[in-house]
Amino acid sequence: MSSERKANITVVGSGTMGNGIAHVFAQHGFTVLLNDLQQSFLDRALLTIGSNLDRQIKKGSLQEAQKNEILARIRPSLDLEEACKEADLIIEAATENDAIKKDLFRKFDQFSRPSTLLASNTSSISITEIAAVTGRPDKVIGMHFMNPVPVMKLVEIIRGLATSDQTFQTVKSLSEELEKTPVEVNDYPGFISNRILLPMLNEAMFCVMEGVATPEAIDTVMKLGMNHPMGPLQLADFIGLDVCLSIMEVLQKGLGDDKYRPCPLLKKMVAAGHLGKKTGRGFYSYT
Ligand code: NAD
Repeated sequence: MSSERKANITVVGSGTMGNGIAHVFAQHGFTVLLNDLQQSFLDRALLTIGSNLDRQIKKGSLQEAQKNEILARIRPSLDLEEACKEADLIIEAATENDAIKKDLFRKFDQFSRPSTLLASNTSSISITEIAAVTGRPDKVIGMHFMNPVPVMKLVEIIRGLATSDQTFQTVKSLSEELEKTPVEVNDYPGFISNRILLPMLNEAMFCVMEGVATPEAIDTVMKLGMNHPMGPLQLADFIGLDVCLSIMEVLQKGLGDDKYRPCPLLKKMVAAGHLGKKTGRGFYSYT
């Protein structure tokens, strides 16, 4: 990646995380190609980025004139091959599914220049395994942004077993250019954030299931007693209970320890379609 010019960034998947990642790169002067499967998804992503930029303008952290410049740096694309051709860094932010991600990385490997770095925003899937489907595992890395991406400072940078120092240093510098704080993590299930956070959320669910206390009481204890900005059950609803369940399953399977077993109440709620805020019902109701 040349140090004289800004890197070309391709973001694959324009949902919650993908549009946020495109937003922060464009805001910091990078040209971004944003790829998804349907035009309607890309239209929605650009609308979301526009309204998030409006919020920044209202708060005074961005000037009105910058909005159009930032939006002009993001080019929507439905053609993955085209989107990969000129990229210096491809960041995958597609659905959290092993098969989808491996299929995408095979295509990135095929469609991009040999020097292109390939990153995944996965919450829990092994970077080493994803890297192994490519012919360039040294250039594959995890770049785990937090939600909402324009607001949260942290990026976990996950080194797969074969990730080179050069790939790590380039991605670390890019994260710093975005005014984020990168933290280096080795590739183990759940990395740091979800390995520590999810068992806490899961334990809060066991407390509800066993009748230890109501969700409101549990959240109040963690907010007022531990100074957490959000209670664990409110946070689980915000993340999505289906996402929480799949991360617990990855921890249990990957670490082989039943202390990571998903709470039966969590499984039941997911089976019933009570997925939290996004479906209007989880540990709380959202109308
Ligand atoms: P999302 O469902 O909002 O968006 C996923 C997008 O990927 C969708 O628009 C979908 O159409 C697109 N997609 C699926 N297959 C594709 C393909 N083959 N080619 C191009 N696009 C494709 O999901 P999200 O919440 O943005 O999560 C994306 C990734 O980020 C996941 O790996 C997730 O684990 C991770 N993540 C999520 C959060 C969070 O709070 N939501 C936080 C950190 C990391």
